[in-house]
Amino acid sequence: MQDSFGRSITYLRVSVTDRCDFRCVYCMSEHMTFLPKAEMLSLEELERLCITFVDKGVERLRITGGEPLVRKNVMTLFERLGMRLGRGLKELTLTTNGSQLSHFAQGLHDAGVRRVNVSLDTRDPDLFRRITRWGDLGKVLKGLEAAQKAGLGVKINTVALKGLNEDEIADLLRWSHAEGFDFTLIETMPLGEVEEDRSDRYLPLSLVRGRLEREMTLTPSTHRTGGPARYFDVAETGGRLGLITPLTHNFCESCNRVRVTCTGMLYMCLGQEDSADLRAPLRASNDGAALDAAIEAAIRRKPRGHDFVIDRRTAQPALARPMSLTGG
Ligand code: SAM
Ligand code: SF4
Repeated sequence: MQDSFGRSITYLRVSVTDRCDFRCVYCMSEHMTFLPKAEMLSLEELERLCITFVDKGVERLRITGGEPLVRKNVMTLFERLGMRLGRGLKELTLTTNGSQLSHFAQGLHDAGVRRVNVSLDTRDPDLFRRITRWGDLGKVLKGLEAAQKAGLGVKINTVALKGLNEDEIADLLRWSHAEGFDFTLIETMPLGEVEEDRSDRYLPLSLVRGRLEREMTLTPSTHRTGGPARYFDVAETGGRLGLITPLTHNFCESCNRVRVTCTGMLYMCLGQEDSADLRAPLRASNDGAALDAAIEAAIRRKPRGHDFVIDRRTAQPALARPMSLTGG
């Protein structure tokens, strides 16, 4: 699958639910309304959709949400998709808040998952509760332990939040690397309606990088994933630091990814509104021709780059759709 700018699309992120057991302040409103169940793709439909993408050249699948592990019977999806590993599919991963990982880590490994991204913004239990509103840090730490025990590689994703976790970032990095985890920082993005004024929490990673460099040696790494992260080797810890700055345009020319929501909407770019409905062709027939055609037409429309704008005066999100829908 190549888009009109010659980029090969080899990476698909699939949101399997918009629901979540947390209400992170930068992601969701506390009184978030979720989609009616009838609008969501069934697990069988999600599987057909993913396999169609694998048949069309997708090599890496990331399952996300909402919180993917709160979707009922989601392990059957991992098991079914895992059967395609080595046959077109090179990697099956997930992004999770870690709250259910202690139950599922072994099953995920058995299904063929080898790496998980776990979102963790702080190791302070009170601050954790304040940021996630409903989360319990202890459960996430148990989940991380279970992931290690099951042999899953872990990357910690931390959203850099001004006035919340900014003084803890160096500690989080050292702790992650000491545990053998990769560590990636994310800049807040203006997606979805939340109660807080998000521009108050915006912490540019250029600033964070400068602060970290007072304490440690960061050497730009050649490691690339086709996504918005730039990587650095940290001399003092021997680990890797990723910086995700989605509001800059430094990665669009190598962008290899598209995203599908739990209702089957295909987004060709996280920072643009254009989308294609794949649920209608998916439900229209079993032969796959209409679905193939819809995917191909959409990929041809993948834009050259994204278009995030934060209106700092009104603090309106650049895009109304929340991250929990497209899954980050
Ligand atoms: N619930 C899972 C989790 O938290 O890892 C998966 C979905 S979550 C939407 C995926 C990632 O997006 C998380 O690392 C989260 O911190 C990040 N995220 C959510 N809203 C964001 C925002 N407005 N700006 C930047 N990152 C955001
Ligand atoms: Fe849930 Fe993840 Fe959003 Fe937090 S960031 S509310 S865990 S979907």
